[in-house]
Amino acid sequence: MVMDKLGNSLQDALKKIVKSGRIDERTVNEVVKDIQRALLQSDVNVKLVMQMSKQIKERALKEEVPSGMSPREHVIRIVYQELINIIGKSTDIPLKPQTIMMIGLQGSGKTTTTSKLARYFQRKGLKPAVVCADTFRPGAYQQLSTLCTKLNVAFYGEEGNPDAVGIVERGLKELQKNDVLIVDTAGRHSLEGDLIKEMEDIHSVAKPDYKLLVLDGAIGQQASEQARAFNDSIGISGVVISKLDGTAKGGGALSAVSETNSSIAFIGVGETPEDLERFEPDRFISRLLGMGDIKSLIEKAEEALGEEDFDMEAMLRGRFTLKDMYKQLESLNKMGPMKQIMQMLPLGGMGAKIPEDAYQVTGDKLSRYRVLMDSMTEEEMLNPRTIGSSRIKRIARGSGSSPEDVRELLKYHKMMQTAMKGFRGGKFNMQKMMKKM
Ligand code: GDP
Repeated sequence: MVMDKLGNSLQDALKKIVKSGRIDERTVNEVVKDIQRALLQSDVNVKLVMQMSKQIKERALKEEVPSGMSPREHVIRIVYQELINIIGKSTDIPLKPQTIMMIGLQGSGKTTTTSKLARYFQRKGLKPAVVCADTFRPGAYQQLSTLCTKLNVAFYGEEGNPDAVGIVERGLKELQKNDVLIVDTAGRHSLEGDLIKEMEDIHSVAKPDYKLLVLDGAIGQQASEQARAFNDSIGISGVVISKLDGTAKGGGALSAVSETNSSIAFIGVGETPEDLERFEPDRFISRLLGMGDIKSLIEKAEEALGEEDFDMEAMLRGRFTLKDMYKQLESLNKMGPMKQIMQMLPLGGMGAKIPEDAYQVTGDKLSRYRVLMDSMTEEEMLNPRTIGSSRIKRIARGSGSSPEDVRELLKYHKMMQTAMKGFRGGKFNMQKMMKKM
């Protein structure tokens, strides 16, 4: 996955929204704090984080929930939209003949990205070719020529010749019959005067249509300084963030993009020529937030809350029959692991005392309860208190079970009933809360 750490903490924040009984100012503040922490820990620039959290708070508390959407979905959608807002649009890279100049510091992943890019255009049916103008890093020529040979991509370079500008001039001429000409330039260990000068010289000779800055996803705030320096010298048309696979924090590079008003064209997600992805903001954020999982969690929570099969009114009046209990267990059981569901319900969130065993209703137990209840009269199911020991024996006989089984069911019912009463008598107004939902 990309940016594992940030993704996980953002997903935890969103799960808080899913689990919370209601979306009020406190919940929103808490979730925004979690999001802030997650972004800052991933090196996203403080100013951006503050801007974004202000937007989320304002919108979540003021904007009306669109019809057909629950308050939870609404807030999650706002978070999603505001994250997309930070990273903006992606750089449009057309599929047509063009010249692209690659720039960036040494070690950023520039040479690897050059080969990935050649492979990208090749997959799209265009004929890419590569000029190696990295005359600074020993081994760059060998690395790139080997990669190009493997990919069957035309390559031009002059091993040992330090004249980068001359190489570019000759290379572009020789390779001009190809569609997409990619010029890999030399980086330096840091931003130095001679690097900038070389960029400008190559730039004026190559006259590239696009200048792609490669930023290492693992670097922090220095990313902004780099982006600004390159942008000020030759102007950048887009950014490739490399090494976003694995544990890269990524936030520094993302902030640099936003700060220079630039946009991302590709992301690098591995070391092979295939590991390059076009950058699509909505898909990227969706993946980061695990939107697929979050959506299904919301659906489950909403389903559980919207369950109207059991008689809520009667429960509020204190009546909670065996039938009610069975219906409830049945519908909850359909939705997956009981404990997970219960925690999503406001019951859990409100701290109503649901006994730990109440979670352990398996499908097996449910069918045993069903068999026992089939041997009860209507009256017994509505008023389980009337079931004394002789009735217990009768029910056991009729259902082919033991009296202990019947007692267990009754005990279970009593436990649930007590929990429901505690819930009703708690400091929360249940009816009001249900209406809100
Ligand atoms: P350059 O000096 O900018 O040309 O850097 P290189 O292209 O040689 O890359 C430096 C190191 O980063 C190499 O070991 C690459 O394999 C590695 N690298 C580049 N891009 C990625 C990426 O997207 N993911 C991972 N995991 N490694 C990468």
